[in-house]
Amino acid sequence: MTQTFLSIGECMVEMAPTAAGDYSLGFAGDTLNTAWYARQFLGEEWDVSYLTAVGEDAISNRMVEFIAGAGIKTDLVQRRSDCTVGLYLIQLDNGERSFAYWRSDSAARRLADDPARLDAAFAAANVIYLSGITLAILPLQHRLTLFDALAAARQRGATVVFDTNLRPRLWDSHETMQQTIMTAAGVSDILLPSFDDEATFFGDATPDDTARRYADAGAPLVVVKNGGNEATCLRGAQLSHFTPPKVANVVDTTAAGDSFNAGFLATYLDTGNLDDSMAAGAALAARVIGERGALIKV
Ligand code: ADP
Repeated sequence: MTQTFLSIGECMVEMAPTAAGDYSLGFAGDTLNTAWYARQFLGEEWDVSYLTAVGEDAISNRMVEFIAGAGIKTDLVQRRSDCTVGLYLIQLDNGERSFAYWRSDSAARRLADDPARLDAAFAAANVIYLSGITLAILPLQHRLTLFDALAAARQRGATVVFDTNLRPRLWDSHETMQQTIMTAAGVSDILLPSFDDEATFFGDATPDDTARRYADAGAPLVVVKNGGNEATCLRGAQLSHFTPPKVANVVDTTAAGDSFNAGFLATYLDTGNLDDSMAAGAALAARVIGERGALIKV
C-alpha cells in the first residue's frame, strides 16, 4: 500500500548570483529541500507531498510546477488570491554569501489557518515533516492549531519528524522561539537538530546535552547533526555516535542538514537501523555539499 511522506513549510523564490553578474531564479526552502531529496531516496511505495500556501499569480504557478516537476505531490498546496510567495536574494561579497529576504507577508504564513484542512491533510499522512521555520512563520494561534493537528495525527499512528532549524530573526523573541521549539519536541517522534545552532541559542555545551534536552521534552529519537564532526543519536536511553565521512572538497553547505534528514529518514523508515540510517544521511549530505546549490539531482 502507498505511504505518504508529507512535508510542511515555505518554499521561496531564490535569486542567486551567476558568474555573468546577473541573477538566476530558482526555488528552495528547508522543508521543500528535504521533500526533494526524500522523493529521490524513498522507494516507489512512498508518495512525497508538500503542504504550503502560495498565491494565484504567475510566479506561484511556476513554483508549483517546479515542485510537481520534482515528483512531489502538490494537491495540498493551497492557492490564495490575497498574497503571493516569499523571495530571497543571495549576495556574494568576496566569496561570502549573505541573504536578503522578502517573506513577511508570504502566502505560506497562512498554511495552518484552517484546522479542518490540516486534519484532512494529516489523515492521509504516515510521516509528517516540519521545521522550526515552519513554526516561526505562523501566527501564534495557527501554531497551536498545527500542534493540535500533529497530536491527533500521532494518535492515529503518524510519525512526526521535526528539524528545529533555529532562525531567531523569524521569531518575536528568543523566549518564544525556545518555548515553541520545546513544545514541538514534545509532539515529535524524531528530532533532527544541528548542534551549532543549539549551542548558540540554547546554550548546550555538547551534542549529547542537546540530545538529552530534547529527549527530556519527550522525543523518542534525537539525532544531533554537527557538520563534519561526530553526530549524536539518542534513542530511548541508548546513546550512540557517528562520525561522517570526510568530504575533500566542500563547495557549498546549503541544504547539508535538509539533505541529511532525507537520507537518514529514507533508510530509517525502511529499516529502523540507526547506523545504516546515519551513514545514508551523511553520504547524501556529502554529495550535496560537494556541489553548488541546495537542490541537486543525486
Ligand atoms: P545544517 O546544515 O543543518 O547546519 P550540519 O552542518 O550539521 O547541518 O550538517 C548536516 C550533515 O551534513 C552532517 O551531519 C554531516 O553528515 C554533513 N556535513 C556537513 N558539513 C560537513 C563537512 N564539512 N564534512 C563532512 N560532512 C559534513
